[in-house]
Amino acid sequence: MSRVLGAALFGVDGTVVEVEVRISSQLPRTDIVGLADAAVRESAARVRAAIGSSGLAFPDRRVTVNLAPAHLRKSDPGLDLPIAAAVLAAAGQIPPERLAGIGLVGELALDGRVRSVRGALALCLALRDAGCTRVVVPAGNAAEAALAPGLEVRAALDLASVARHLAEGEPLPLATPPAAPASDPPGPDLGDVRGQAFARRALEVACAGGHALLLRGAPGCGKTMLARRVPALLPPLDFDEALEVTRIYGAAGRLSEAEPIVWQRPFRAPHHTASPAGLLGGGSPPRPGEISLAHHGVLFLDELPEFDRRCLEALRQVLEERCIVIARARTSCTFPAQLQLVAAANPCPCGWRGSASRDCRCDDAAIARYARRISGPLLDRFDLQVEMQPVAWSELDAPATAPASREVRARVGEARRRAAQRAGGRYRTNAEIPDALLDAAVAATPDARALLGRAVERLGLSARAARRTLRVARTIADLAGDARTGGEAVAEALGYRDRITRGE
Ligand SMILES: [Zn+2]
Repeated sequence: MSRVLGAALFGVDGTVVEVEVRISSQLPRTDIVGLADAAVRESAARVRAAIGSSGLAFPDRRVTVNLAPAHLRKSDPGLDLPIAAAVLAAAGQIPPERLAGIGLVGELALDGRVRSVRGALALCLALRDAGCTRVVVPAGNAAEAALAPGLEVRAALDLASVARHLAEGEPLPLATPPAAPASDPPGPDLGDVRGQAFARRALEVACAGGHALLLRGAPGCGKTMLARRVPALLPPLDFDEALEVTRIYGAAGRLSEAEPIVWQRPFRAPHHTASPAGLLGGGSPPRPGEISLAHHGVLFLDELPEFDRRCLEALRQVLEERCIVIARARTSCTFPAQLQLVAAANPCPCGWRGSASRDCRCDDAAIARYARRISGPLLDRFDLQVEMQPVAWSELDAPATAPASREVRARVGEARRRAAQRAGGRYRTNAEIPDALLDAAVAATPDARALLGRAVERLGLSARAARRTLRVARTIADLAGDARTGGEAVAEALGYRDRITRGE
C-alpha cells in the first residue's frame, strides 16, 4: 500500500486529499473509492494510459484507490498525478520514503503529458499548510504556484520525468514567480477629465476610505468615464493581496501562461442582466462570481436600479461582511469580496429628469417605482452619493486642470497608511472601523460633534447613518493629515449624504 498527498478545489480554497493505493492479488481491475465524481472516476483510465505511454508498467492486478477525507465530493482531474504516483509506489516503482513531504498536482493526458489545472495556487497553499515542503505541478501552472511562500515548486511536463524525479531524484525545473511590474496601472488617467471637480473629490475620498460611492446623473455626464479611473487611484496590490486575487482568478480558471499572476487591481463591470450566480458566485461546483473577481479591486455597477432584486439585496450583505457564503447541500463555500464599490444610476427610467437639454418623459409613478428598486437599507450603505451635471462648454474648452491619477494615488495611499496604522491590523480601511472602535478612531473635535448633532436632528439621520458619516469624515481628516476629525471634515461628509437621507 502507498500514500501520496494531492489536493482538490472547493470554491477558491484547496483541501488536501490523501491518495491511498492498495494492490491485491485478484483479477485486474481498478476502483476509485472515496466519493469521487465522474471526472475523478475517469481518472483510472487516464492514469492507466499515461503510465503505459510513459514506458512504465501499470500493475496487472486489482488496484484500489481510496481518496480521503471520504465525506468531500471530489471532482478534480488534478488528482491524476498523485493517483499515478501512488500506483507506481504501491507497485514498487517509486520508493515510498521518497514521497514524504511532497504534494502532487496535475491532470494527465493519455500520452503522459501533465496538463494544467484550475486553482493550482489554492491547491499548493493547502498542501503547504498540511506540511508539504515541495510540490510538483504542471509546467503550465508553475509560475502561479511559485507565488506560494515557503514552498519549493517543481514544474512537470510529463509523467515519465515526474516518476524519475520521485524515484531517482532527477531534478525537475525549479519554478520562480515572475516579479511584479513596476509600471503605473493601466487604464485612463484622471488628469484627462474636464470639470466634475466635486465628483473627482468624492472619488478620492471613496478610494482613501474604501467607502461605497453612488454616482447619479443623466446619460453621458461621465459616470462610467470616472468609474474606469478608480483602479488607478488605489495603491498597487501588495504581495498578500496579489496572492489572494491570483488564488481566486486561478480557481475561476481565468489565469493563462501569459498572465499567471494578477498584479493589478481588478476592475469588474458586470452588466445589469447578470444572473445572481454570475454576480455573486454559484453553480456546481461553486465558482466565484463578479463580486469575488473584484476582490481587492473595483466593482462598477452601472444602471444599479436595473440589477436583479436578489442581487441588490445580497449586495447589502456583501458590503457588510466583505465575503459571500454559497451554501450547497453537502458543503458551503466562502468567497471573499473585499471590494471598492462604485455604482451609477440615472435619475429616472428615461435618464433625462432634471436635464436642461432634453425632456424627461417619465410619469411620477414610473419615477417612484424606479427609485424604489434600490431599497433604503442598500442606499444607506453608499456613504458617498454624488449628483453629476453635464460639464459646461466653458470647462470642456478650457485646458485640463484635474490632477493626474498618480498624484491622487499618492494622497490616497498616504491616507490609507494613516488608517492602517491606527487600525493596528483590526481593520483595513476606515469604511470597516467597527462600531466599538469608532469614537476612539474618529477623535472628533467638540465642533465636529456639535455639527453632527445638529445634522442628526435637522435631517433625521439614523444612528447608523451618523456612524457612517463619521467614518467618511475620518477619511477626509486622514487625507488632510489631521489627527483629529474636525467640523470641516464632518461638514464635507454630510454633503455627500444629504440627498441619501432625504431619499431623493
Ligand atoms: Zn425620465
